[in-house]
Amino acid sequence: MKQEIKITGVMLQSYIICKRQLWFFSRQIVPDQKNPYIEIGRLIDEMSYQRERKKIHFEDFVIDIVKKKGSSLVIAEVKKTSKAKESALMQLAFYLYRLKQNGILATGELLFPKERRKQKVVLTEELEEKVLKALNEIAKILAIPNAPKPEKQKYCTKCGYREFCWA
Ligand code: SF4
Repeated sequence: MKQEIKITGVMLQSYIICKRQLWFFSRQIVPDQKNPYIEIGRLIDEMSYQRERKKIHFEDFVIDIVKKKGSSLVIAEVKKTSKAKESALMQLAFYLYRLKQNGILATGELLFPKERRKQKVVLTEELEEKVLKALNEIAKILAIPNAPKPEKQKYCTKCGYREFCWA
């Protein structure tokens, strides 16, 4: 029997960046861990917001920071740079959507410690629509037996899969 692949927040992120990357990721093909950009991202993630940090495992995903602001719940994701803001936003919107499905209403924050910036994220009807549309399209991509063809783009130079595409 064919095993169903579970869609994760990181897959939503990859979906925005590159469909081929998404496909590799879904097949558990591990990116080059020595890629300096992956390492920098990991260090920033470990070193930032240490006092606030409270990683929470919820079902099959991990939220970087969960905090209370007045009577509302805020979940936050720490990112290396705001250059891939759109993909980070979709990942966070997906987490907000999943929480909402479980009866938990929260707002989100994207944190960019290197740039000392943060962006508030609210799961509006429009954003929720976008998440649902993306989930639909991701399911179609994951069902394809072979990886989509590589398409050169600005993320390729920093991508852990670049040797699979441009060796
Ligand atoms: S190297 Fe470029 S084309 Fe290949 S998976 Fe990464 S982003 Fe996609």
